[in-house]
Amino acid sequence: MATVYYNTDINESALEGKTVAVIGYGSQGHAHALNMKESGVDVIIGLRRGRSWEKAEEDGFHVYEVSEAAEKADIMMLALPDEAQPSIYENQIKPALTSGKSLVFAHGFNIHFSQIQPPEDINVFMVAPKGPGHIVRRTYESGAGVPALYAIYQDPHGEAKELALAYAKQIGAGRAGIIETTFQEETETDLFGEQAVLCGGTSALVKAGFETLVEAGYQPEVAYFECLHELKLIVDLMYEGGLEYMRYSISDTAQWGDFVAGPRIVTDETKAAMKEILTDIQTGKFAHGWIVENQANRPQFNAINKREHEHQLTEVGQKLREMMPFVKHDQKGVISRAGN
Ligand code: NDP
Ligand code: MG
Ligand code: MG
Repeated sequence: MATVYYNTDINESALEGKTVAVIGYGSQGHAHALNMKESGVDVIIGLRRGRSWEKAEEDGFHVYEVSEAAEKADIMMLALPDEAQPSIYENQIKPALTSGKSLVFAHGFNIHFSQIQPPEDINVFMVAPKGPGHIVRRTYESGAGVPALYAIYQDPHGEAKELALAYAKQIGAGRAGIIETTFQEETETDLFGEQAVLCGGTSALVKAGFETLVEAGYQPEVAYFECLHELKLIVDLMYEGGLEYMRYSISDTAQWGDFVAGPRIVTDETKAAMKEILTDIQTGKFAHGWIVENQANRPQFNAINKREHEHQLTEVGQKLREMMPFVKHDQKGVISRAGN
C-alpha cells in the first residue's frame, strides 16, 4: 500500500525564508499560488504579458517575466502547459538555476521523458494535486484539501522531501493526504488513465454507443441522452461510492445489464489493446510521437480535432445543451482536465 502523509506529519518551516515562484497562472498555478499565499508562504508569479498576468496582479501578486521570477525564487513550480515547458525552461529558467534551488512539477512528463534535464545540484520534485486547479482552490477555501501525489527525482542536499511535503501542505493537500510516488509511476499511470479509460476509452465508448443507436434508426437526441448525458449521473455515483454505490443506486435491471453486457463490450481483446497502449507509454513510443507532433505544429492533432468536431454528436449536443442552460459550461472557461 502507498505511504501517505498528513498535515501533522509535516513541518512546513522548510519553506520559511524561501521565495516560491509559481510560473504560470492557469488552472494549477492560480490555485497553488493563492493557497500558499494564504498559508503564509512568500509567493511571486512568473509569466509573459497577457491575460494571466493581469489576473495574477488583480489577485494581489507581484508578477515578473519568467526569467526574473526564476532569478528571485528559491523554489519554482512549473505550472505551465507541459508542451511549453521545455523551451521556457531552457531559455528563461535554466540560466537562473544556482545550486540548491528547487524545480517543482505538477506532472512528470518532461522529467521522465528527458525533455527537461536539470543540473545535478538542483532539487527536483513533484507535487501533483489529484484534481483540477479550481477544485484545489475551492476546497482549500472551504477548509479542506485535495489529495496530492509527491515524488522526488533529484535530492542533492537531502532536503527535497521536506520541501516537497511542506509545499504540498501549504497548498492544502496535507488536510486530505499526500501519497508518495515516483516520476515514472505518476507519468505512466496518468497517461494510461487518460488514454485507456478517462478520455480515450470513454469518448470512444460514447461515440460507438451513439452511432449504434442512430444507425439502428433511433433519434439522435434520444441517443445523445442515453449514451452521453446520463454518463455524468453514473460517474457521479462511482465518484461518491465506487462501483458498489453506483450499482446499489441503479435499478436491478440496469445492474443485471451491467453484469451480462459489460464483459461483451470490454473483452479480452480490449484488454490486450490496453496492454499495448501501456507498452507504448512505458517504452516512450507515445511520448516520442507526441513530441514530434508538437514540433511539426500538430498536423494530425488538428486534423483529428476537426474531424471530431464534425461528428453528429457535436451538433446534437449543442442543440440539446441549449435546452439545458444549467449544464452549460463557459466555453472559454475552465474545462477541468481529468487526471491532470
Ligand atoms: P494552464 O494551461 O491552465 O495554464 C498555463 C499557464 O501558463 C497560463 O497562466 C499561461 O498564461 C502560462 N503560459 C503559457 N505559455 C507561457 C509562456 N510561453 N510564458 C509564460 N507563461 C506561459 O495549465 P495547467 O494548470 O492545466 O497545467 C500546468 C501543469 O499542471 C502541467 O504540468 C499539468 O500537467 C499539471 N496539472 C494540471 C492539472 C489540471 O487540472 N489542469 C492537474 C494536475 C496537474 P497565458 O495566459 O499568458 O497563456
Ligand atoms: Mg437510461
Ligand atoms: Mg494527464
